[in-house]
Amino acid sequence: MLYGGVGAQVTSRQTSSKKIDHEGRSRTRELERRLNRVELMNQALWELVRDAAKLNPDLLEARMKEIDMRDGIKDDSISIIPLRCPTCKRVSSSKNWKCLYCGLEFDRGAY
Ligand SMILES: [Zn+2]
Repeated sequence: MLYGGVGAQVTSRQTSSKKIDHEGRSRTRELERRLNRVELMNQALWELVRDAAKLNPDLLEARMKEIDMRDGIKDDSISIIPLRCPTCKRVSSSKNWKCLYCGLEFDRGAY
């Protein structure tokens, strides 16, 4: 009786673990599908803008590097940090490097 009870618990845990694995794989596939779609959309948008505005393709790479370095760390990603505006004292993000409320441009060298 005691062993049966323990066995039942293990079986229950294994079933739960398999369910979590399945959910994890399913979630990963969904995220990959969404990432692929965002990548495709991003490329299409870039090509439309580049062709319409006759932009030099080097501008995209230069802007990507500039945005990547806004947080001072080269990691090929956008890190958003909260910045308190020295003028109005409200908090904006480093995404735009200017205060969302009063429009003050933040000094990038300070961060
Ligand atoms: Zn402000």
